[in-house]
Amino acid sequence: MGRCAMTREPAKRQPCAPCAQRAAAERSSAPPAGAAASLGGARHSFASISVGAQRQGRGSGGRTAPPTDRKALFCHQCEQQKTFNIGYYLQAETEIRMDNTTFASVFLGTHNMKLNASAAGVIPTVYDEEKKKLSRIESVADLCDAIKRLQDQNAYPPSSGALPVFFIPFGKQLRGSSADTLGWHIANINSHCTDLVGPLKGSRVVLVDVDPEGKTCAKVLLHEMGHAVGNVDVPDSPMIMGPCDPAAPQTPPIPCDPDGKQNLMTATEVKKFCS
Ligand SMILES: [Zn+2]
Repeated sequence: MGRCAMTREPAKRQPCAPCAQRAAAERSSAPPAGAAASLGGARHSFASISVGAQRQGRGSGGRTAPPTDRKALFCHQCEQQKTFNIGYYLQAETEIRMDNTTFASVFLGTHNMKLNASAAGVIPTVYDEEKKKLSRIESVADLCDAIKRLQDQNAYPPSSGALPVFFIPFGKQLRGSSADTLGWHIANINSHCTDLVGPLKGSRVVLVDVDPEGKTCAKVLLHEMGHAVGNVDVPDSPMIMGPCDPAAPQTPPIPCDPDGKQNLMTATEVKKFCS
């Protein structure tokens, strides 16, 4: 399937299986140029860390880290300020998810990073006479088509190597097998699109669902940006790389909380944003 879908947290807190598959697929293939060098190895060391009770691995009896370790774990700051650039695309009738950009901006600011989000283009849409509304991106093929058209207009990829982020309402086929898909980090867009529309420039693409009837989750953008720098899913975790719980507070994390309850990435995960 290869789909890195960030899902809403199901009632039974099942791990995000599609993401796990994607992560496994990425680990087994060389990362594209410019990607974080190490995609593997991290997953197991984080799998058992949860906010509020940091455990040092499943085999250690769940020992709680002392506060100083916890601070080092969560309060990592990039040595030099780094700007993370995203170029976002909207459809004519959709809006950027401001809660997502605020969440990402506050989080990155905590770690000496700046989020620079700039508009990169408007996704071409056509009026559907039958449905009496603007066409949606319903499928991966629609997405490929839209990106190809943006590329032909020189609006894709975004300038200065920014990460392309599409804020679009997810159509059923785009959502794939999970009705709860809220975001998608596509490591190599050409693995989906070349056969359909020919080669596209760039590789990584992030999608964030803006379906007004869907549930919202403020950490989706940051979660997918986490994938873009090489972080993997951490199933059953309330942290950024875990699944989304729309019932949880959707407020940005508190900077470097000494109790560790609001620091939602480990230092190792944050470091990948710094490089
Ligand atoms: Zn994910």
